[in-house]
Amino acid sequence: MAMNIKVDEEKCIGCGRCEEICPAVFHVREATGKSEVIDAEACEFVGCCEAAEENCPVEAITVEE
Ligand code: SF4
Repeated sequence: MAMNIKVDEEKCIGCGRCEEICPAVFHVREATGKSEVIDAEACEFVGCCEAAEENCPVEAITVEE
């Protein structure tokens, strides 16, 4: 079952931590300075989305099974 990953763009400060932890899943778009989910399916295989959620300084990431 695919994970449901969300980034709250209102909260995101574009620090890039999620992209460092899960580059297959998150990408900080330069134009907006906000992180976006580029491949939610990659969470299942890389297992990093929970770590990104825990390490986001503003709790902008939500991970649901
Ligand atoms: S870790 Fe959080 S605040 Fe930083 S870029 Fe990712 S979603 Fe945005």
